[in-house]
Amino acid sequence: MVASSVLGFPRIGSANREVKKAVEAYWAGKISADALTKAAAEVKKTSWINVKAKGVDFVPSGEFSLYDHVLDHSAAFNVIPTRYVGLGLSPLDVYFAMGRGRQSEGVDVPASEMKKWFDSNYHFVVPEFSDETDFKLNFNKAVEEFKEAQAAGVTTRPVVLGPISFLVLGKPSKEAKPGFQPISLLPKLLPVYKTLLADLKVAGAEWVQIDEPVLVLDTAASLGKQFSSAYAELAPVSPKILLTTYFSRLDSNLTYVAKLPVAGLHIDLDRAPGQLDEVIAAVKPTSIVLSLGLVSGRNIWKTDFAAAIKSGQKAIDALGQDRVVVATSSSLLHTPVTLASETKLTPEQKDWFSFALEKAGEVATIAAVLSGSQDAKVAAALEENTASIAKRRAFEANSDDAVRKRVAAVTPEQLERQSPFAVRKEIQAKHLNLPKFPTTTIGSFPQTKEIRQARAKLGKGEITEEEYEEFIKKEVETVVRFQERIGLDLLVHGEPERNDMVQYFGEQLHGFVFTQNAWVQSYGSRYVRPPIIVSDVSRSGPMTVKWSSYAQSLTKLPMKGMLTGPVTILNWSFPRADVSRELQSKQLALALRDEVIDLEKAGISAIQVDEPAIREGLPLRRSDWDAYLKWAVDSFKLSTAGVTDQLQTHSHFCYSDFDDIFPSIQRLDADVISIEASKSDMKLLNTFKQYGYSNQIGPGVYDIHSPRVPGSQEIKDRLKSMLDILPDSLLFVNPDCGLKTRGWKETEASLVNLVEGAKWARENY
Ligand code: GLN
Ligand code: ZN
Repeated sequence: MVASSVLGFPRIGSANREVKKAVEAYWAGKISADALTKAAAEVKKTSWINVKAKGVDFVPSGEFSLYDHVLDHSAAFNVIPTRYVGLGLSPLDVYFAMGRGRQSEGVDVPASEMKKWFDSNYHFVVPEFSDETDFKLNFNKAVEEFKEAQAAGVTTRPVVLGPISFLVLGKPSKEAKPGFQPISLLPKLLPVYKTLLADLKVAGAEWVQIDEPVLVLDTAASLGKQFSSAYAELAPVSPKILLTTYFSRLDSNLTYVAKLPVAGLHIDLDRAPGQLDEVIAAVKPTSIVLSLGLVSGRNIWKTDFAAAIKSGQKAIDALGQDRVVVATSSSLLHTPVTLASETKLTPEQKDWFSFALEKAGEVATIAAVLSGSQDAKVAAALEENTASIAKRRAFEANSDDAVRKRVAAVTPEQLERQSPFAVRKEIQAKHLNLPKFPTTTIGSFPQTKEIRQARAKLGKGEITEEEYEEFIKKEVETVVRFQERIGLDLLVHGEPERNDMVQYFGEQLHGFVFTQNAWVQSYGSRYVRPPIIVSDVSRSGPMTVKWSSYAQSLTKLPMKGMLTGPVTILNWSFPRADVSRELQSKQLALALRDEVIDLEKAGISAIQVDEPAIREGLPLRRSDWDAYLKWAVDSFKLSTAGVTDQLQTHSHFCYSDFDDIFPSIQRLDADVISIEASKSDMKLLNTFKQYGYSNQIGPGVYDIHSPRVPGSQEIKDRLKSMLDILPDSLLFVNPDCGLKTRGWKETEASLVNLVEGAKWARENY
């Protein structure tokens, strides 16, 4: 018999977002800790029962979280930075303080650092270690939830983050000695894991899913010794271990992984289908059960059963049915809960997709088919899948020939501006007539309650399109007058018309579909609803020209047009799976290219194309970087290079770790880039200097992610240290990101100080 398994499930609840709401209500002091626990227990129970009801053999437990599963793990293992200790808070409040900081009743602690979970848009709370770290089991979440599920009538396979990934994903704490490496704590950590796993065995768990996602990284190549010793110690006391990898391939790490004393190995065949043959060959001589990640945990497309069955059969032929499990490729955390909550998709569209619950059904069906099931329901499900995949393929075949031809015909010349930067710079200086140290902002101004309300009213039909447009026009005018008044040089219209920097464009482009409830966790209680790219992308007409030209008509000062870049739109959407990301990115780039050209025709003389997601799209394996960076940078260039030399192109990135991708940043050839620099000291500017970066740069002079107002002296000091590194002719003065999450009060105070800082620089440099 081939078994089926799900590696993890979304935590939000149903379309009503019960967990998100309960957590936020608890933070607001509106419900008690007990009520929060109860709400969470309800959601967990429903998920276990629902997944089991789909016919899944291995139902996960223990991966649920009120905030982040890595944070749960840190709290359970007593990895609690000293700044959160002794504050007189309950364990639950210490937990939330670590996740999001706390500022109340005399307590004032910042949040821990968050990082992106591999190449996903999920963020985890980074554990902090030092030699003083005192590992002990504060609570055994794996056992507790295993029992909780059992009480609900479901026997689960508990999920635990593995010891090596836990340490490798962490960082040295402030107290750590120089040169300290978290992995050095492994011998101290293992006894606590042994206790956890032994308790789990006593509780009756037959299997445990131990996640070691670092195994798909290049850096794991040097961890073979640690993996061998750790698992040799854990295996004898533990339930059967399913060593779990996801998001990429094992590559050379397979050599030592196949020798580990584990009972099972999970591999991701969605992201890395090419590894199947070598993994089969490597585990064949062992008794390891192979868990095949055939149903994507990262996208929302219905699985092609025929293709999955083919891969499954290959594994069965080599290993036999009992050594093969059909699984989701990763946790389903990165997918929405269920298609059943979508009422506005057409039946045709609905038939294309599979969300978490539907995917649970898919693993069960594929496993049943591979087991040779004669069940009529299974046969019907297989037939249904064949039919809907055929329909989907037929739809996909309806490509937009004009768009495809246009992408195929892109020439190297289309990626380059007419003249090199040095020449453009002179022309733009005359045309834009900006002062030295020009001041500007990143685009958005406060998205006030009034703005969101107006949009909601439009959605409900309570106001007309005309009334909404009048309202937005007034907002634009307010933003323009404000910028004139405080003396900014290169203005923006403020983006009040945008619900979201990706959705806004997706809604105006051909090729996208939107959902009502397809929420995916980004971090803590924050969820996003990514648009879905379903077919070839093209522009039906100008998307932003109306607003930018209206804003320009209000002022003599230059107005900067504002677009989201092709790579960012792609990375923050669910992409198609039938064509390459490169093709989708180039289609987006061509649509944006037309918009950029239209903006210039409409009299706009500077245009910013934001690419904050270009870095997070980097593949996990370094050997894949060049190919990605090539098309990603080409896409940006394709979108921006269709203009005359006098148009100043800008781009914006919310981060500053460029060290390893610097040549690509340079190759973008944007006339001006703005970057985060307020948190990262001046390290990155040295990188720019070292590489001889020649175009203009606006390193953020203050952090907009906090309501704190930077004093004018602080801004002057910052400019001074920037000018110690960068030539004065290259410097723009701006905040480090858009202002949409800020209030007007701190925005005004901060920008007034920013302008004062720039004036001071003009007088002194
Ligand atoms: N132009 C966008 C804004 O100002 C950029 C947002 C971002 O970088 N994430 O909001
Ligand atoms: Zn930003």
